[in-house]
Amino acid sequence: MTAGPTALVSLTKLATYEPTAVLQAMRTCLEPFGGMATFVKPGQKVLLKPNLLGPFPADQAVTTHPSIVRAAAILVREAGGRPYIGDSPAVGRLSQVARVTGMLDVVAETGAPLLELEDPGEFEVPGHGIFPRLVLARALSQVDVVISLPKLKTHSQMILTGALKNQFGCVPGLLKSEWHFRLQERKWLAALLLDIHRAIRPCLAIMDAVVAMEGPGPSAGHPRPLGVLLAGTDFVAVDAVACHLIGLSPAQVPSCRAAHEQGVGETDLQRLRLVGPDWRTLRVSDFQPPPQPAEVLRLLPLPPALLRGLRRQWTLRPVILPGRCTRCGICEERCPVRPSAIHPRACPSHQLDDRRCIRCYCCHEFCPAHAIVLRSSRTSRWLPLRPVARGVNRLLGWLAALRQDRTH
Ligand code: SF4
Ligand code: SF4
Repeated sequence: MTAGPTALVSLTKLATYEPTAVLQAMRTCLEPFGGMATFVKPGQKVLLKPNLLGPFPADQAVTTHPSIVRAAAILVREAGGRPYIGDSPAVGRLSQVARVTGMLDVVAETGAPLLELEDPGEFEVPGHGIFPRLVLARALSQVDVVISLPKLKTHSQMILTGALKNQFGCVPGLLKSEWHFRLQERKWLAALLLDIHRAIRPCLAIMDAVVAMEGPGPSAGHPRPLGVLLAGTDFVAVDAVACHLIGLSPAQVPSCRAAHEQGVGETDLQRLRLVGPDWRTLRVSDFQPPPQPAEVLRLLPLPPALLRGLRRQWTLRPVILPGRCTRCGICEERCPVRPSAIHPRACPSHQLDDRRCIRCYCCHEFCPAHAIVLRSSRTSRWLPLRPVARGVNRLLGWLAALRQDRTH
């Protein structure tokens, strides 16, 4: 995902999810790259990573359409690869979500099994921006190739959910919510998305913008036909082109902005090689952006001060052990917050600026003396949030699937 004037984004018109038409369009879209065989070698295990946010029927445009996943699985098989379909839904379990979204039919037709992205494993982040190691789905280490199949949607917090954001589904289960809880500012979440992308290194994005979502996405917006399939190896470039199609500037999207600041990928259309119909003929002028960019926790009907207090209660805080600290200052240097949120030379009660600490735990990670421990508050020990959240998530998934079963 390096920047360069030759980054290629391929666009193909596609006005329907009719399976034969989708398969043909995907072949056309991948032709400029040399076809699927450029990315998949015989015998390789290939994870197809659609956006399977929750148990929503395909026509609601919340999830990547099953026809897109089906076509990708067929092309992977033609290239000699072994496709798997995997995600960690934000709401509900993968089997439940696959049933409601129509993905189980794709499994049956193509023989590509579902791959749960729930068991955690630790991953190095080569050339990391902030996080040198991340906990992601262990299953990622068992596949040879990752191909991302994002859906073009608005996102109330991150403005756009496209190619870069799709990999957030590789964070297992409720760890996703914990990241939202820990990193409440969009710029930090954007930096996390880039590091997740660096750790996973997906080789190709094929974006479903046949019917996008506008308005209050990622789940409560409205389907909006755009009639386009996009593909690229530079995920930042794919997102940048998607932005232009719906009348956004990449600079408005935190993940594109962070990528530009870190010199990752290409956001400038002038420096991209666009193949296919002129993107200006595909652009829509009246696409509804998310109503008001909001941080996820701010969507809860609670006063901001209470939310901040809850966050402090339920996230682990770094604490310096005085007997071990050598006062080398590395934690202060590596803290991404500027000025630093940790001050090892201060008195113990002032060593952490709790309001500014984003809970990235880089200080803990980098301390050579292992002098920083992560401590939970007494409240979180009495009332552990994780099991409570897991129960609520399962209940919400079950209720959503039940509602869909009744209406269809
Ligand atoms: S990195 Fe560790 S040893 Fe060095 S100042 Fe920070 S807490 Fe102390
Ligand atoms: S103090 Fe530690 S956990 Fe807090 S922002 Fe700085 S590096 Fe991250």
